[in-house]
Amino acid sequence: MNAALDPTTPRPAAPTTAWELLRADFPILDQRVHGHPLVYLDNAATSQKPRAVLEAIDRYYRSENANVHRGIHELSNRATAAYEGARARVARFLNARSAEEIVFTRGTTEAINLVAHAWGARVRSGDAILLTEMEHHSNLVPWQLLAQRTGANLRYLPVTGDDGGLEVDRLGQLLTPEVKLFAFTHISNTLGTVNPVAELCARARGLGVVTLVDAAQSAGHLELDVQQLGCDFLAFSSHKIGGPTGLGVLYGRRELLEAMPPWQGGGDMIANVEFYASRWNVIPHKFEAGTPHIAGAVGLHAAMDYLDRIGRQRIFQHDQELAARAYEQLAGLAGIRLLGPKTGRAGLVSFHFSDVHAHDVVTVADQFGVALRGGHHCNQPLMRKLGLESTARASFYFYNTAGEVDRLVEVLREIRRFFHVPL
Ligand code: PLP
Repeated sequence: MNAALDPTTPRPAAPTTAWELLRADFPILDQRVHGHPLVYLDNAATSQKPRAVLEAIDRYYRSENANVHRGIHELSNRATAAYEGARARVARFLNARSAEEIVFTRGTTEAINLVAHAWGARVRSGDAILLTEMEHHSNLVPWQLLAQRTGANLRYLPVTGDDGGLEVDRLGQLLTPEVKLFAFTHISNTLGTVNPVAELCARARGLGVVTLVDAAQSAGHLELDVQQLGCDFLAFSSHKIGGPTGLGVLYGRRELLEAMPPWQGGGDMIANVEFYASRWNVIPHKFEAGTPHIAGAVGLHAAMDYLDRIGRQRIFQHDQELAARAYEQLAGLAGIRLLGPKTGRAGLVSFHFSDVHAHDVVTVADQFGVALRGGHHCNQPLMRKLGLESTARASFYFYNTAGEVDRLVEVLREIRRFFHVPL
């Protein structure tokens, strides 16, 4: 067996780069899986959490836990301050005009469903929603449901087969007066394409079309400025940026949020309730029915502070370098098909071997301690368009190293030997 794959091989030498030093902040990374040092390359699915986040949540539950907005006792005031402090931090993280434009949700998926329901209440039969062919199911199915409820139509901006970009030239034909909303992803979770968000938003805005940006794959990897991007809505998930699961963010332009009806009813979202009618609370509370994920917001706050101490532009550069290194080396393997752009890609690489199923790749890689993802990545229509059922995907974050990329390639070589496929 190759020395790099021997379970008794010790962990690579002591950290030498600043990036490697950051790994010490992530206790989960320091373990063996099936006897091998863990190489976690499933960051597009969820990121690992730094000690600062774990400790902030622990501290919150130990010393501040109470319900928010409703109490006048000390702990409730502290919990409310922590929760609203997190909201203000998100507003700064996105450069929103005010914290009132930040709604906490369960995740990107719930944020998009909120818009599809509440903003979608104005959609009529014959209206159109424009999406792209590279949307995650989270930014596709909610619009299908809206179309079914209202008789609206869905349109798709095509993906070019060869480089995984959008056919932006087709916008002229597709952005007609029937289109009321254009929803698209910033970074494709399957192709690694980085879409020109500001340009797409400007094209839509010029025609009075509302825009929604799915920032699930970008929020933790590059700097986002909603004013500069010029979007109306933007959604992301805490768990993909080093924060806890169960929490997400919807940014919405104030005028739109104010004009929208509530989505879910319950505590906190009301100003006054009578037996037969109610009046709604102001934004953003109008969209946050029931007890929110307070500890989640505290954890997200710590995650945003942590990321910004490193610098999101530096993180993006590091992710890109790792993805480029992986792409170059994988391109040298026989029988491999690599998806998405050759250059300028975000920090992930999806690939397909002509003779080994993606699930087998991922299952065997796991035996070597390498965590990948295999499947359709919630992009079934895109995969079918590309003539594929599934791919394996390696996705990187700032705590991944060049050594881990090399190990991935080594393990893939071993897997091909295992399946008796010529190298
Ligand atoms: N959009 C994209 C591009 C994603 O990659 C994901 C998750 O992988 C989502 C939306 C959904 O995120 P969540 O499951 O956190 O709601």
